Amino acid sequence: MASAHKLDCEAAAADCRFIIQSENEVEALELAKNHMKEVHEQEYTDEELRKEHLQVV
Ligand SMILES: [Zn+2]
Repeated sequence: MASAHKLDCEAAAADCRFIIQSENEVEALELAKNHMKEVHEQEYTDEELRKEHLQVV
């Protein structure tokens, strides 16, 4: 079974229930970055997101 890359925003921002899940890591990172920027006005690099927020499920 293919693994999926998942970002649970609740871990980064306590009041946010946004969850991204994609089998494509690039797409997951892109969606995560857009969400962080638009909703939380925070800039993350791919590396930060990958290390700190992205889980492989
Ligand atoms: Zn969020």
